[in-house]
Amino acid sequence: MLKRRHYHMADIESCVLCIAQEEETIGHLIFNCPFSQHCWAKIGISYNSNTSRIEATVRAKEIYSSRLFFEIFTITAWNIWKERNNFIFDQINPTHNAWLERTKADLSWLRYRVSTDLSDYITSLVNNL
Ligand SMILES: [Zn+2]
Repeated sequence: MLKRRHYHMADIESCVLCIAQEEETIGHLIFNCPFSQHCWAKIGISYNSNTSRIEATVRAKEIYSSRLFFEIFTITAWNIWKERNNFIFDQINPTHNAWLERTKADLSWLRYRVSTDLSDYITSLVNNL
């Protein structure tokens, strides 16, 4: 967005999550970046980046087949975003382990908002991450 408004963002135009230093777009950062793909694979959501984001998300939901898909999807994407922001604003190098620990913590909080059967599902998911 800042680039579209012609702000000089030379230092952060490239994705900070990958060595390839691809241009930082939402599509790359959240879905196509090798760092993010590792996160999606870890959480068990397969995301086909060859289709539109909406089609890919709908398909990922069908494959994932959990009533909590969008909550888990959002927590996963949010923590990828936080890895990026930790580097941009606090110079903390992104790591899969940091992403995983925050994701597990956020998923654990989600247990308090759902029914017992879904809470058990989340507990199992977190324990298997
Ligand atoms: Zn990247």
